[in-house]
Amino acid sequence: MVNADITLADLPLRPELVGEEPYGAPQLDVPVCLNVNENPYPPSASTLEEMADAIRNAAYHRYPDREFTGLRQQLADYLGHGLGVANVWAANGSNEVMTHVLGAFGGPGRRVLSFTPTYSMYPEYARNTHSDYVTAPRHDDYTLDAGLVLRAIAEHDPTVVIITTPNNPTGTTTPLAEIERVLTGTDAIVVVDEAYQEFARHPDETALTLLPRFGNLVVSRTMSKAFAFAGGRLGYLAAAPAIVDACRIVRLPYHLSAQTQAVASVALRHAGEMLARVDDLRAARDELLRRAPAMGFEVVDSDANFVLVGRWSDRHLAWQQLLGQGVLVRETGPAGYLRVSAGTPEEMEAFYAALACVDAPRMGE
Ligand code: PMP
Repeated sequence: MVNADITLADLPLRPELVGEEPYGAPQLDVPVCLNVNENPYPPSASTLEEMADAIRNAAYHRYPDREFTGLRQQLADYLGHGLGVANVWAANGSNEVMTHVLGAFGGPGRRVLSFTPTYSMYPEYARNTHSDYVTAPRHDDYTLDAGLVLRAIAEHDPTVVIITTPNNPTGTTTPLAEIERVLTGTDAIVVVDEAYQEFARHPDETALTLLPRFGNLVVSRTMSKAFAFAGGRLGYLAAAPAIVDACRIVRLPYHLSAQTQAVASVALRHAGEMLARVDDLRAARDELLRRAPAMGFEVVDSDANFVLVGRWSDRHLAWQQLLGQGVLVRETGPAGYLRVSAGTPEEMEAFYAALACVDAPRMGE
């Protein structure tokens, strides 16, 4: 069959991939994008200039540093808590870091457990690493406690447990004391996904503080959110050196390009500037939590840079009505809600104005 006529049905696609769609929120060119939890504030002109210099000065005829030791040292310094190079691993977004963790600790016949509703990429990480994916529901208010987690562990016997705090898409934080009790009660690898930790009301209450006591703990972080570096693609983890060594076995050699290492290094040197708008975004989130209810909508309390707003009996229609006014949000999460990222003051005003014009029917109407 000639190239142009061949379809996926003619190819020996893995059976579990038949009918699957590539993951991803719609990427639409609209004035106000509040759909993927980015930091909307770009770096300063001088930092961008330094990034450009770093790219100009990187060596492209040689492979990059496979162990990216300099960048790992910077990440360890940024995290603090006495961490060093041996405790840190990184990849092209925390998505890739997680595929390293599951490549090393998941696999055929092994289970990965998470708590729904939660981040919709986890089942894909599991599928791509040939791991089984199992879930347990969170409490009705989307919280988690150690009892619920440990019961699910006893039921499913996973090798990897993922606790997302603050959770995407609900924004719910899991208290550190609960995570500590989970770690005390299991030998499974416990990944605490803190992608949104910098936005939390208490960012210092991080699972990083538990690392010295628990060798099975992985704390996953990213530069995509608070750090305003989503386009740079740099996610990382902190864990015991043995866990980092396991990731090193399954990574592709030279997975972090010379440009990625160079630009991320500049971003980390300017951590203060990159993170300078986190307070503004927290304030925008808190205003959203106040203002949407004042307009008659329901919200779910959030510690991240996004809020679930609803509830519509036809949320797709509400999503479309916002989009029709140039505001892109995310159609995800529990029934009836849309997830709205915290943006600049101008973006938020555009969102509130558009929201006021949405007349899609609400639940219970
Ligand atoms: N974890 C969570 C909970 C997320 O919401 C996201 C991004 N939406 C990621 C991980 C992955 O982010 P990245 O690959 O950009 O680091």
